[in-house]
Amino acid sequence: MTDEVVDLLVIGGGPAGLAAARGYREEGGKGRVVVISADPDSPYDRPPLSKDFLRGDTAEDDLGLLEDGELAKLEVTWAHDRVTKVDTAAKHAETREGSSFTYRNVVFATGSNPVALPVPGGDDPSVLHLRTLADGKRLKETTGTVRTVAVIGSGFIGCEVASSLRRLGLDVVQVTNEDAPQENRLGEEAGARIAGWLAEDGVRLVTGATVTAIERDAEGVTVRIDGQDDVRADEVLVAAGIRPATELAAEAGLDLHEGRIVVDAQMRSATEGVFAAGDVAYAFNAAAGRELSVEHWFDAEVMGKIAGRAAAGSEGAQWSDPPGFWSQIGDRWLKYAAWGDGYVEALFEEGPDGAFTVWYQNENGTCVGVLTYNADANYDKAFSLLS
Ligand SMILES: Cc1cc2nc3c(=O)[nH]c(=O)nc-3n(C[C@H](O)[C@H](O)[C@H](O)COP(=O)(O)OP(=O)(O)OC[C@H]3O[C@@H](n4cnc5c(N)ncnc54)[C@H](O)[C@@H]3O)c2cc1C
Repeated sequence: MTDEVVDLLVIGGGPAGLAAARGYREEGGKGRVVVISADPDSPYDRPPLSKDFLRGDTAEDDLGLLEDGELAKLEVTWAHDRVTKVDTAAKHAETREGSSFTYRNVVFATGSNPVALPVPGGDDPSVLHLRTLADGKRLKETTGTVRTVAVIGSGFIGCEVASSLRRLGLDVVQVTNEDAPQENRLGEEAGARIAGWLAEDGVRLVTGATVTAIERDAEGVTVRIDGQDDVRADEVLVAAGIRPATELAAEAGLDLHEGRIVVDAQMRSATEGVFAAGDVAYAFNAAAGRELSVEHWFDAEVMGKIAGRAAAGSEGAQWSDPPGFWSQIGDRWLKYAAWGDGYVEALFEEGPDGAFTVWYQNENGTCVGVLTYNADANYDKAFSLLS
């Protein structure tokens, strides 16, 4: 096994990993940079997988994140491989394909994986999940061969997928343990609006439903629900949340909080030369004054960029943006930004033509989050209040 000496090793080729490599070079970081990505595909845009890519409005070729010749220009080596071990004392990493690296700095940007439902049949490999481009292509292929899909889960991915599948003409049953989609996070009125949109799109919602088993037979799938009728479908997709991919970090002995790597506002961990960014990080947000867990695309890019810049020696870059995301259910865009630890009051403000804003406040009446639909001025106002 030959050992390569690198200045920056990035583990993970999602938005955080790619941004780390870009940020390192932008800050003038010198020497050899290697990104190891376990995903066999070149870096791609993940959010369209449940939206325009699934609906067929965006082609696979248009999902790529790299500009032509960008890696060569940045002098970054991209390897499709998996890091299997990191020894932080020796500053040394090994991969599945037998490569090994001695690094000066390493960025953990290993992202998340979808969780399987903890019920009989939940881990059946035929159950669909959606995280990677390969998952997205499998789901798309499936849509060509089936009539009915059961979608379990009513987070943003579940709602986006359910609506997209309806637009493709499939019968969709969405099963959720919430009383309305996303009610637990966004409040009753927002939940009711989203339920209305899904119903308008023709999604059949089964709410307050605890799934007890997923059973496959020759004709399709039965979703068993505690105290309610079974749901029959040709295929089932589970969108029941994600788990940060921190096995590697745990084995390396990094400081973890609820499965995420603890880092400061510069994405620096307590271990010398080790940074983390994106879904896998429990990062200190300077404006919030505490660490946050976030699972959003834009935040992963921002954190990755900061990690790369800090690894190149910048002291200036630090994470202070309010976290958030945009979600598309059918052709309706929701914009959300929030500090992420709940609210005491959700103030619903109706706008023209179905537009709305939900202002989330804490016990002092301070704005801690916002959700808007066709109310960009309110979103911008709340964003600056949060910043
Ligand atoms: C269908 C879908 C739609 C979404 N829509 C939105 C949206 O609209 N808005 C939004 O804000 N967010 C959205 N998200 C969430 C967003 O995609 C994530 O928050 C973001 O991708 C996190 O970026 P990351 O770089 O931290 O991790 P990831 O994008 O998960 O990338 C991590 C990478 O690390 C690799 N990896 C893991 N372990 C290793 C290892 N040991 N060695 C080498 N490589 C490794 C993985 O293969 C993966 O490629 C969506 C997610 C999905 C799945």
